[in-house]
Amino acid sequence: MFALKRYTEDLINLLFPALCNGCGKLLYHGEQQICSQCLFDLPLTDFHQYEDNPVAKQFWGRLPLNAAMAMLYFKKGTKVQNLMHSLKYKNQTEVGIKLGQLMGAKLKLAENFCDVDVVVPVPLHQKKLKLRGYNQSEYIAKGLADEMGIKVSLDSLLRDKATESQTKKARYHRFENMQDVFGVSKLDELLDKHILLVDDVITTGATLEACGNVLLAHGIKKLSIAALAFAEQ
Ligand SMILES: [Zn+2]
Repeated sequence: MFALKRYTEDLINLLFPALCNGCGKLLYHGEQQICSQCLFDLPLTDFHQYEDNPVAKQFWGRLPLNAAMAMLYFKKGTKVQNLMHSLKYKNQTEVGIKLGQLMGAKLKLAENFCDVDVVVPVPLHQKKLKLRGYNQSEYIAKGLADEMGIKVSLDSLLRDKATESQTKKARYHRFENMQDVFGVSKLDELLDKHILLVDDVITTGATLEACGNVLLAHGIKKLSIAALAFAEQ
């Protein structure tokens, strides 16, 4: 029976070889989602090691943060773009978990992040969620929280349609440049906690700003931000 299972696995690998989500090359035995070379080549920012990093600076005057970071530099035509594309559009949710774990390993040792209580992923627009079937940021948050040994709260921060059913209970905050409306439920999971808001790629930071302001308006203790990648504007 074991031999048959092994044979079937080998056959599946032969017919559908697992490829690296960064470079597209065949994965070796023991490698998963991302090959060793791509992991080695990741363009790390080390932003978690200094407070006045470019991501933190982007939020100065917009959002009062405890700390902010992104793990990788994002540039078009690079392996990082391939990884983000696989995670977002090709159902490669394990890429999010793996990179989330990598980020968690760094943050649990970082002075400004080691006391985070709860990880909250940025909720996806309902239309996109229906189309894609999953929220990529949830997988990053899961990997990260797992590595840091803390909780992830998946439905405490709500977006657009999902918030409407709660209209009577929740307070809403609209932002000039954001069509979307964020709201909070399960406040007990967030109250007086250090919240780490997690996204895939930071570009303008408008979504994170809107989410962050809603969380802060609901009485959380501290807010920090972490993203897998940072696209310089
Ligand atoms: Zn690779």
